Amino acid sequence: MMELKGKKVLVVGLGKSGLAAALFLRHQGAQVTVSDVRSAESLAKEIPALLEEGIMVEAGGHGLLTFRRQDLIVVSPGVPLDTPELEQVRKFGSPIIGELELAARFLKGKIVAITGSNGKTTTTALLGAILEEAGIPVLVGGNIGVPVVALIEESSDTTWSVLEVSSFQLESTEKFHPNVAVILNITPDHLDRHHSFENYARAKERIFAAQNEHDAAVLNADNARAAEAAKRSAGRVYWFSIEHPVGQGAWVEDGYVVYRGRRDAAVERVMPLSKIPLKGEHNVENVVAAVCAARQAGAPAEAIGRAIEKFQAVEHRLEFVATVNGVDYYNDSKATNVDATAKAVAAFQSGIHLILGGKDKGSDYTILAPLLHQRVRAVYTIGAAAAIIESQLRGIISLHSCETLDRAVSAAASAARPGDVVLLAPACSSFDQFESYEHRGHVFKELVAEQRGWKVGQSA
Ligand code: ADP
Repeated sequence: MMELKGKKVLVVGLGKSGLAAALFLRHQGAQVTVSDVRSAESLAKEIPALLEEGIMVEAGGHGLLTFRRQDLIVVSPGVPLDTPELEQVRKFGSPIIGELELAARFLKGKIVAITGSNGKTTTTALLGAILEEAGIPVLVGGNIGVPVVALIEESSDTTWSVLEVSSFQLESTEKFHPNVAVILNITPDHLDRHHSFENYARAKERIFAAQNEHDAAVLNADNARAAEAAKRSAGRVYWFSIEHPVGQGAWVEDGYVVYRGRRDAAVERVMPLSKIPLKGEHNVENVVAAVCAARQAGAPAEAIGRAIEKFQAVEHRLEFVATVNGVDYYNDSKATNVDATAKAVAAFQSGIHLILGGKDKGSDYTILAPLLHQRVRAVYTIGAAAAIIESQLRGIISLHSCETLDRAVSAAASAARPGDVVLLAPACSSFDQFESYEHRGHVFKELVAEQRGWKVGQSA
């Protein structure tokens, strides 16, 4: 553990985790400054509380002097590590760590960390529910909502902290040491920030960096790049697969999710596939991964099965919204990359009206072509990425340029026939037209509700 009393610490980026980090550091007796590029007006809500705690605030840009005078710099996950001010102070040797690394140095008890390109939130929530059902004291945090530093106070020698961690957070970790570390999958995403697929994959592999032979690494045997990461862990390797049996780990066999802890141990039946309440094969992957990690944390098979049966889809993750005039509407606003969209489309047989677009991240949409061809009736494009998507998919599928989400929902609703599906799984981030993917998902759900009102009104 590090001594913080009297130390000068700068927190860069005043998001949820930056705010929590600043408060934690202050409570530990550090002299804290926070710096954000946003203006004082847009931080009006946060500033008074910070000043009241005796935390200094620099808004509207970063002053180089602010960066130079520090004993420690804590960077929020949203702030790129190649920000010019950080590059500068790195030259002077100031220690720079992320919120996760800071938290890791103080968090008590055991840790399961979950990373991957897709499925992190779902699997983290599943595992949290399982450990709770099993009566294991559990804290859930990280990218899923509660910053990891905010868990420190409640953590004890007997707690298991289940943490959703992103490649951005892992990029700057050193001592972060999960007892169980899970990589769900590695598929292209965030290439705008990590510059190449290999850099992005390496950041994810850092989840294993501090592990030793007492720890467990849980990996997806069906995802080539994730499987390759096995060699980065000094821990015992457990696999999960929905395609074939594995030596030790969890897989799907004869309609059941099964597990075995050692190659020579008996195979345990955990639960029938038919009792998994979530849609799509990708969610079976998440379940199998959660089963494998839960057994490492000591949850018995019966509790695992009970918890999964009761589990509801996390909002904006292939969430069923409503049936209007025989058409099912699904909100997968969290599908912010091409792989997540592919999985969403694969969860339905046919008759899909797919809404695509938003802020492009340098993705290759042509990967979707075969699936679109088989299952999708038409694509409705929105947002800044529309032109790129249309140029890549022209001739493959019927395309409608809608520009906005409300026009896309109206167009899809008028084209859809009973039995069809209108699916928002846009393969892009939301920041061109919305505040966040949650905002986009909420707007979609309101538009569906309007469809319902309008149609009911019409037919009455
Ligand atoms: P994350 O936290 O990694 O973004 P979520 O659970 O929030 O993961 O899901 C993100 C998106 O990816 C959603 O659109 C969801 O339907 C899809 N998804 C969930 N699990 C998987 C998976 N194992 N593989 C591919 N896509 C997935």
